[in-house]
Amino acid sequence: MVVIAKCRFCGGSAAYYIEHARMHLCENCFIEYYERKVYKTLVKHDMLKGARKVAVAISGGKDSVALLEVLHRITSEKFPEVELTAIHIDLGIPGYSEECRRISEDVCRKLGIECHVYDLRREEGYGIPDFQTTPFKKRICGACGTVKRYLMNRIAYEIGADRLATGHNLDDVVEVLFELYLKGSVEEIVRMKPVSWSNHPKLITKIKPLIELTERENMYYVLARKLPILSAQCPLAKESRMLRRKRLIDMIEKEIPGFKHTFYKSHLKRLLPKLEKELKEPEIRECSQCGMPTISKTCSYCKLTTKLKQKLLNQTSTKY
Ligand code: SF4
Ligand code: ZN
Repeated sequence: MVVIAKCRFCGGSAAYYIEHARMHLCENCFIEYYERKVYKTLVKHDMLKGARKVAVAISGGKDSVALLEVLHRITSEKFPEVELTAIHIDLGIPGYSEECRRISEDVCRKLGIECHVYDLRREEGYGIPDFQTTPFKKRICGACGTVKRYLMNRIAYEIGADRLATGHNLDDVVEVLFELYLKGSVEEIVRMKPVSWSNHPKLITKIKPLIELTERENMYYVLARKLPILSAQCPLAKESRMLRRKRLIDMIEKEIPGFKHTFYKSHLKRLLPKLEKELKEPEIRECSQCGMPTISKTCSYCKLTTKLKQKLLNQTSTKY
């Protein structure tokens, strides 16, 4: 006999199972649960307090697509004074970036949200695959992360946004925290929080509205709201330590349901306030090359890309 699980809230046929809460939900109750949870996170951390223009970083992947949809619904209903806009960076990765861009543009069009597409190759003269010819070839995802973080902040600043929302989820944050606590990297641990308030006019306040939702919950939301799903995989992605750590954390979660939530909450409520009291905030200055905020003389983006851009420029000029 096949037993069909019932929704915890309405008693209808369940479509999804939320492991950490050990509850089955039907599609409609899941959507309500998800959107309520994001709303509560926004309010609990004052993420939209005083906000006028929120730039949403959209890559085309499930987390950012879910983020744009849910923020669109919540702001239209509860924060009508907030304008939403989206930023997509075309990373120039053949066989992958095309689909990421198409999905991002389609979702924005459907929601009536302006999409600022930044074409890395056209605007900066290089694409992420070009790092394969540099000493960063073994850490290409790290280089890609630096590029995205820097450009997202710069574009958000240039378009006059006062918040930058990213789709970081609970799995992402716990994976990073796990590594940082192992290494004892206290300066980096204090940066892992739901809101990073700006302390420089060119630094945009970053918010993570999905920080209490798991990767799986974001996937369920994309399915339930019938949003497009990215099928292409980045050809530069390798079996990274990050993926191995995520698998390990999933194994712990299986043995200790709720482990990820407990870890994150202990960090946020118990350790973070103590560490923040102990540590002095680093002094922010402006990069000697690009003028954007940094804690050293030259920002990490300029350090990473100056030589690459020069090399590619020289190659082009010797061709003609
Ligand atoms: Fe960038 Fe790595 Fe993601 Fe590919 S897998 S888009 S290189 S971070
Ligand atoms: Zn710089």
